[in-house]
Amino acid sequence: MSEHSIKMLLVVEDNRGDARLIREMFNEYGEPGTHMTHVERMSEAEAHLATHHVDVILLDLGLPDAQGLETLRRAHVAAPAVPLVVLTAYDDETTAAQALQQGAQDYLIKGQIETRGLLRALRYAVERKVMEEALFAEKERAQVTLKCIGDAVACTDNAGRISFLNLAAETMTGWTLLEALGQPMAEVLRIVDATNPSSANRSLVRRDGLEFPVEESVAPIHDRVGQTTGSVIVFRDVSVARAMAARLSHWAQHDFLTGLPNRMVLNDRIGQAIVLAARHAKKAVLLFLDLDNFKHINDSLGHPIGDKLLQSIAGRLVKCVRASDTVSRQGGDEFVVLLSEVSNPEDGAAMARRMLDTVAEAHTIDQHDLHVTTSIGISVYPDDGLDAETLIKNADMAMYQAKETGRQGYKYFERAMNARAVERQSLEEGLRRAVERGELELYYQPKLSLATGAITGAEALLRWTHPVRGAVSPAQFIPVAEDSGLIVSIGNWVLREACLQARRWANAGLPSISMAVNISAVELRKEGFLAGVFAIIAETGVEPALLELELTESVLMKHVDLAAAILKRLADAGVKLAVDDFGTGYSSLSYLRKFPINALKIDQSFVRQIATDPDEPLVRAIIGMGRALKLKTVAEGVETEQELTFLRERECDEGQGYLFSRPVPPSRFASLLVQGIDQQVVPAGSPLRLSV
Ligand code: C2E
Ligand code: MG
Ligand code: MG
Repeated sequence: MSEHSIKMLLVVEDNRGDARLIREMFNEYGEPGTHMTHVERMSEAEAHLATHHVDVILLDLGLPDAQGLETLRRAHVAAPAVPLVVLTAYDDETTAAQALQQGAQDYLIKGQIETRGLLRALRYAVERKVMEEALFAEKERAQVTLKCIGDAVACTDNAGRISFLNLAAETMTGWTLLEALGQPMAEVLRIVDATNPSSANRSLVRRDGLEFPVEESVAPIHDRVGQTTGSVIVFRDVSVARAMAARLSHWAQHDFLTGLPNRMVLNDRIGQAIVLAARHAKKAVLLFLDLDNFKHINDSLGHPIGDKLLQSIAGRLVKCVRASDTVSRQGGDEFVVLLSEVSNPEDGAAMARRMLDTVAEAHTIDQHDLHVTTSIGISVYPDDGLDAETLIKNADMAMYQAKETGRQGYKYFERAMNARAVERQSLEEGLRRAVERGELELYYQPKLSLATGAITGAEALLRWTHPVRGAVSPAQFIPVAEDSGLIVSIGNWVLREACLQARRWANAGLPSISMAVNISAVELRKEGFLAGVFAIIAETGVEPALLELELTESVLMKHVDLAAAILKRLADAGVKLAVDDFGTGYSSLSYLRKFPINALKIDQSFVRQIATDPDEPLVRAIIGMGRALKLKTVAEGVETEQELTFLRERECDEGQGYLFSRPVPPSRFASLLVQGIDQQVVPAGSPLRLSV
């Protein structure tokens, strides 16, 4: 049994003569690889076991500092998993027997020890311990299995008396295992032919008389020689399965969250409505609803609250319509409402207005008063389509249009809308080739220290010159790039290009400044993002501490844990992180502490307020918060002297905006950097002048 071979033997024996004898036996006949350690006291044994691995212990029960079973107990405490063979005096068989009961694997009587006996005792001790462990694990597994399986399991002995019930069997019979032990099986498992002919053919009558349909199977238990010693009965409550089947067919047609009819049912009903409308020369109207900014609610308050909000909205929508109409949930935050047999397509508008109002009323959910608005697109049969698919598609397109013209509104489908879809499509196509064709470039906008006027950093901003359309604004194409996933390759290009540019400036001996790059949610989520950033850092040789990634709040709040893990790795590498457009997302401030953030970029909409309110509280609050959290504050979109003065007085750290410079091509930026060196320090109070 080489797999249980003994490498380390510990002999605890105060009698040196006995110890020497044992050592000689080992040296002569023991396995070659075995190492024997000898100690004379229990305290030494304990010290040895605390720091060394031992395969088996040979333990004298009479030591100077421990006697009898005490010795055994202490050895167990010191090394619970190590098998023990005890040595006792020839006249102390009682102690030996007790030692076995208390976990010793074997005992040897002093004066009667011979070599083979000793070696065998030790080897078997190790083997038995291994088997004991395996058996224990096996038994545990069986017990856990029996406890967990949903099927009820009962065992009986040969006389048909209950010897075991698992948890499910206890529940189904109404008997606890303790009560049932030794009871005749027929008493506990009252299985009868079903009284209800439509159910399964057998039923179990629970202790309290309740009857439910079961399926059962019985198998005999044999002992080692093949004799039957009892049986195992497994039975299953099939009423659950049957209810489940019924539920499944319900959920195949309904939305889990709201209980509303789902897409499939809606398609069916539209089909019916079309038939009716055609027959009675009427119309059918579809309203496509999509909540505004629902994502923010989900991201900031969590999905459970988002879910409850959807349920609340579903309830209100249902109250708006007639019984013959259908409110369905498409998924996400989209609902489609079908109004059938409508005489006047204008009825759709009336319904849309009613729905806009009812959705907009506050929803009280878990102590939150939530306000949410919706946008609605309307399509009409037969004017806008002759089948369900087209009608839904066109209502959807109208909904998009409603969103674009400002939220909380409705819009009827118009043929022209198709043109917009085509337009978006062509933008995507163009973008797809823009990288290869070299139509993308980066402009750089400086960030300045408001205290000194020195340029501290650059933000890389994408510019796209379309061969036909000319300049397309990022506000227009970034969302398309994000939706189509193109942002991943574009973002990669931006990061590499910006890092290369930073190196070029550094190589040209220009002052070292930070380089900020905007990162979309889509990029951050994409597998391999982190590896990509590190690869670009390595490849371009940019100094990680000079690289700053700008992320918006909503990016951080989506997939918080993932974002936290990624950002932590970046921060560990020295890369800086800034929250872009700070204050525009649904900030939960606790998030700020979750992430290794270095800077807050105050959104320009707040900076713009300074003109109307000379004591603008929000900007002040953000600057104060940044200071408290030891975060740098950067004001975005600084356009006027007035804004600058305000920000300076409130000790905002840095500023960025047209007042200093628009985003400019790299060559222009380089000369800005040089100019900046020329007039590095601006006396506090005097306006900055950095004309471009
Ligand atoms: P952002 O990151 O907040 O960038 C600042 C935007 O404000 C830029 O618009 C900039 O030109 C503009 N801006 C700067 N100073 C002023 C000012 O004084 N007044 C006004 N009115 N505007 C100012 P831009 O370049 O059109 O970019 C818009 C947004 O597009 C950026 O907002 C950013 O979110 C996104 N974006 C731009 N480049 C990239 C990129 O490479 N990757 C990603 N993912 N997003 C980008
Ligand atoms: Mg930015
Ligand atoms: Mg911004």
